[in-house]
Amino acid sequence: MRNKAISLLQELTEAHAVPGHEDEVRAIFVNELEDCGELGADASGSVFCETGGNGPRVMVAGHMDEVGFMVQNITVDGFLQFVALGGWWEHSLLSQRVEILTRSEKKILGVVSSRPPHFLPQSQRANLIPIEQMFIDVGAASREEVERDFGIYVGDPIAPVSAFTAMAREDYYMAKAFDNRVGMAAVIQCGQILSGSSHPNRLILTGTVMEEVGLRGAKTAAAYGRPDVAIVLEGPPADDTPGFSRHEAQGALGRGVQIRVFDPTAIANPRLVRLAIAVAQEERIPYQVTVRRSGGTDAGSFHLSGTGVPSVVLGVPARYIHSHNSIIDLEDYLSMVALTNALVRRLDEETVKELTRFLWGLRERRIRHGGIHKRLTCHSLRNVASSRREYAWNEVRITSWSLCTGRFGFARLAYRHFWKISRSFPRFVWFIVKCGGCSRHH
Ligand SMILES: [Zn+2]
Repeated sequence: MRNKAISLLQELTEAHAVPGHEDEVRAIFVNELEDCGELGADASGSVFCETGGNGPRVMVAGHMDEVGFMVQNITVDGFLQFVALGGWWEHSLLSQRVEILTRSEKKILGVVSSRPPHFLPQSQRANLIPIEQMFIDVGAASREEVERDFGIYVGDPIAPVSAFTAMAREDYYMAKAFDNRVGMAAVIQCGQILSGSSHPNRLILTGTVMEEVGLRGAKTAAAYGRPDVAIVLEGPPADDTPGFSRHEAQGALGRGVQIRVFDPTAIANPRLVRLAIAVAQEERIPYQVTVRRSGGTDAGSFHLSGTGVPSVVLGVPARYIHSHNSIIDLEDYLSMVALTNALVRRLDEETVKELTRFLWGLRERRIRHGGIHKRLTCHSLRNVASSRREYAWNEVRITSWSLCTGRFGFARLAYRHFWKISRSFPRFVWFIVKCGGCSRHH
């Protein structure tokens, strides 16, 4: 498992796959998963491997692309001007090696450059140089040489060059594109593990295209895969370096898989988040809950597809993503694989239905569960809090405290026990209980 993880991460991070040009990662996905299920692709290039029975459709997805560039123009004297594909910070660009992938599938090495500081006026040296003023030097003397001899043309994709490297600290690795090759490696490993064992659902392993340019591939991938629930695997930015308060970090290396609850593109389905946390606790998988003020993932597209798809993002925090040298702790990666596997195994039909049951009436509940779910009174609520056995509850919901607020402080009571019960039985899903004892009020 660990050795396979390392070799997969090396192969995937060293692949050349910028948005819209994901062939090399797609090939690895197909190679690794062709024996695990039924392969497919949508018309944008996202790939799928379906495995398992006829249960709910559970999509486990990662994006295949990495941030990169594209040749925008070739100057007469043989330098390449370029546009960014995805978010780059100019600070991390100058003097970095890149490779241009030609139409004949050759890779040509170049370096990102600008007018050197020695030739800049003092006033400009401290300024950030915009990408428009940078160029790539491939060592050619003319446009003709670039095109005829090197085979590079306007529109060709460019990726960073950076070797996958083990660091001095055990389990720390440095490479480009951990965003999102950790996600792709995990999708592949989960597929290999789960396809060989039983799980109560139809698993749709997915590699999406063009995430880094606006969560685009996930839109068509969702239309193709029609998931009932989506687990997005990512390599999001760590926040445990100087400049942050380390004890407040929500993405620290070595502290486990991230469960992302919020970013500006998606609010995770809260029931799915609670389930993920409960599974992590039961399986003793280290995790960190993350609420982000910026950023976004494919969940932003998945959760709005069709009539809506409950989604959650799991991540391996990586320092310095969107640069040539990002760093991860392999243990966090292994935690992400473990949590994804455990979560998928839990997503049976009833659990998946529960994620989107928004019109759940008390009557239906009583019919389904017979005597156990009799009306609760203030008194019985107290009992639930004090005795799990007596009621054998697996789920208790509180739907309308307001009905009772006028009398006997029921709302206060419910609220107090709500926390008490939640603490004792973290796996509980809460229902609202109509207070039977106070029925004259409603
Ligand atoms: Zn990403």
